[in-house]
Amino acid sequence: MIPVNTPLLDGNEKKYLLECIETGWISSEGPFIKQFEEQFASRVNRRHGVAVCNGTAAIDAAIEALGIGPGDEVIVPAFTIISCVNQIVRAGGVPVLVDSDRTTWNMDVGQIERKITPRTKAIMVVHIYGLPVDLDPVLDIARRYDLKVIEDAAEMHGQTYKGRPCGSFGDISTFSFYPNKHVTTGEGGMILTNSEQLADDCRSLRNLCFQPHKRFVHERLGWNLRMTNMQAAIGVAQLERLDNFLAHKRRLGARYTTALSTLPKVQLPMARTEYADNVYWVFGLVLDKEAGISAEEAMRRLASRGVGTRPFFCPMHQQPVLRRLGLFDNESYPVAEQLYSQGFYIPSGMGLTDAEQDRVCEILLDEFS
Ligand SMILES: *Cc1c(COP(=O)(O)O)cnc(C)c1O
Repeated sequence: MIPVNTPLLDGNEKKYLLECIETGWISSEGPFIKQFEEQFASRVNRRHGVAVCNGTAAIDAAIEALGIGPGDEVIVPAFTIISCVNQIVRAGGVPVLVDSDRTTWNMDVGQIERKITPRTKAIMVVHIYGLPVDLDPVLDIARRYDLKVIEDAAEMHGQTYKGRPCGSFGDISTFSFYPNKHVTTGEGGMILTNSEQLADDCRSLRNLCFQPHKRFVHERLGWNLRMTNMQAAIGVAQLERLDNFLAHKRRLGARYTTALSTLPKVQLPMARTEYADNVYWVFGLVLDKEAGISAEEAMRRLASRGVGTRPFFCPMHQQPVLRRLGLFDNESYPVAEQLYSQGFYIPSGMGLTDAEQDRVCEILLDEFS
């Protein structure tokens, strides 16, 4: 089986991890945490970095730090992972959905403005699969309506928008370091902001809102979202190689694009837009309706030939758990729905070999030409 993802851990990961064990610094108190936070923030041009236990936790803390509460509306893409809406819903807020752009699969920023109401508090942009959202129009709307911007850059390590790093936009941004991301710590996440207040709030929320002078007296409910020194050690080693990783992913994307360009009735990821070159977090395929086959069936056929795949995101308005809460009644987002029913991604991890990739292409061409 060619797995859909294999991480690459052949730099200083082992050396730094050993350092944790030899020094005994294995909790969140160790020195790699600060180093990772500072180096990551500096790479993304942000003043503050707050390392947490995963990318979902980073979004949870960001939503809480921005003060999203009962009745507050946050505009989010329909086509995303549920991590984006969990805390909005738990806090009593309302996710308000926007459909995707057919070509980039990112939120269609032209649909944002008509979703704004007097209760709108924030816009969450989520960069999907390798290309950034067209940010300038979003930032302009946010300025005109005085809305906060949260940037979920979980899939965008090293990506830029018009030359500026993804993760440097808006009030607060978040990353994930899950093993299929360009930089991994096993599990892990990071919150980035230029605001000292938001950074302090996130640090406090990450650590149960312990108070410096009255440790076990709490004025606010936080979580334990701490990252361990061992995770940060791996992160520091991974970050040293981010430029190589990016080049590697772009090469992987270019090889797939060339090899699969003759596949009929299949949409491949866009190689570039006016504002960015694809970093191919994953290499997705969207089957045309005329192909007469669903993503589910295609994935089944590929699995039987030893090729690992994953479905695309299931849109938020089709999530049973959210529907049962009474959200999104009678709403439809046709592009997001089509991406879900016709889209899936093929092996595209950092550790994929050329030989494995060639084999994947051969099987795809054989099955779907
Ligand atoms: C991976 C991912 C997350 C969640 O990160 P975890 O570390 O798995 O919790 C959030 N948003 C997007 C867009 C992601 O791709």
